[in-house]
Amino acid sequence: NPYQVSKNYGDANKAVARIPVGIGRKRLRIVVTGGAGFVGSHLVDKLLARGDDVIVIDNFFTGRKENVMHHFGNPRFELIRHDVVEPILLEVDQIYHLACPASPVHYKYNPVKTIKTNVMGTLNMLGLAKRIGAKFLLTSTSEVYGDPLEHPQKETYWGHVNPIGVRSCYDEGKRTAETLTMDYHRGAGVEVRIARIFNTYGPRMCLDDGRVVSNFVAQAIRKQPLTVYGDGKQTRSFQYVSDLVDGLVALMEGEHVGPFNLGNPGEFTMLELAEVVKETIDSSATIEFKPNTADDPHKRKPDISKAKELLNWEPKKSLREGLPLMVADFRNRILNDDEGKGN
Ligand code: NAD
Ligand code: UDP
Ligand code: UDP
Repeated sequence: NPYQVSKNYGDANKAVARIPVGIGRKRLRIVVTGGAGFVGSHLVDKLLARGDDVIVIDNFFTGRKENVMHHFGNPRFELIRHDVVEPILLEVDQIYHLACPASPVHYKYNPVKTIKTNVMGTLNMLGLAKRIGAKFLLTSTSEVYGDPLEHPQKETYWGHVNPIGVRSCYDEGKRTAETLTMDYHRGAGVEVRIARIFNTYGPRMCLDDGRVVSNFVAQAIRKQPLTVYGDGKQTRSFQYVSDLVDGLVALMEGEHVGPFNLGNPGEFTMLELAEVVKETIDSSATIEFKPNTADDPHKRKPDISKAKELLNWEPKKSLREGLPLMVADFRNRILNDDEGKGN
């Protein structure tokens, strides 16, 4: 019995009955698709900690059991290996829909699969929400703004996206997912929420997923040069994962559909980021320039006035505060890797 209470949990069943879920609030059953991934697993931690039941749906393309393993044996937690491209029947109150590879290396690996995940996966989760009357939250992305001509980006900006480029499977996929979400809202009355997430980092990111923060941190720990693509003057704004998770929950629980930008407005060039990583991990780290990838957005920075005003949310951790919090996790996993234990 996979849901048997483990020894570690001891009194888990009793604990469940005793967990206060807030005055006047019933315990919710919540699905998190992509819940074994980086952001999803931190969200699962928060939802379980506040006393709700969580079902994770994940096909483990980029997610890992290790990210949620600490909940095995908790009767309020369930893990289903399932691909959201296929329909599924469940009875839940809320759906956080995160399933989709997020790093450019992963989403370009099988672009058609990325589109199917964004379109058919989102359709299935909206069909599920419609059938059972569940609230549905889509994790969209700042990539819907493409290589933006407006800076910083507000939610009212329609974007500057190449529909036939190598990133299109992801950014056009997410744009279609937003369209589907709004059409189920208008056409079928599904209660929906849309988050546009800006670059996020923290513990449990895949070690070699090619994203800039995970690359630089892993490279600095391994004593390899930090690989800066292009001239390194392109900018991004980096948000610590706990700030994002707080924003997602505030959005789901709030009254507003969105879309809402969820990101940290602190903007850095890749060269500046490399300097912060050097300060944090190894001041002797060197930089190696490499050619940039196609269609790389030149700059990106969220305008978060809407989320501040309507969700009463803003990020709390600066890059210099957040970076050290992922270093210990990366060191452990790199050490395990080097010893051949994998991660
Ligand atoms: P991640 O790759 O760590 O997590 C994605 C999870 O979805 C993984 O566990 C993966 O196995 C699962 N998955 C992928 N395809 C699936 C499928 N077809 N069926 C079931 N499961 C599937 O990425 P993340 O950084 O945690 O991103 C989570 C969500 O947030 C994604 O939708 C992503 O587009 C969005 N987002 C993330 C960022 C960021 O900086 N991390 C920025 C913008 C948007
Ligand atoms: N769907 C699902 N689980 C459900 C309900 C629907 O996976 O509980 C899927 C369904 O298989 C379909 C999609 O969601 O592919 C859209 O469903 P909807 O009922 O909106 O459309 P229809 O089935 O009429 O095309
Ligand atoms: N980048 C870099 N070195 C790396 C990986 C990425 O300089 O090792 C750059 C990349 O060209 C882009 C920025 O960092 O300009 C952010 O890339 P990432 O893949 O992290 O996210 P996204 O492009 O989706 O914002």
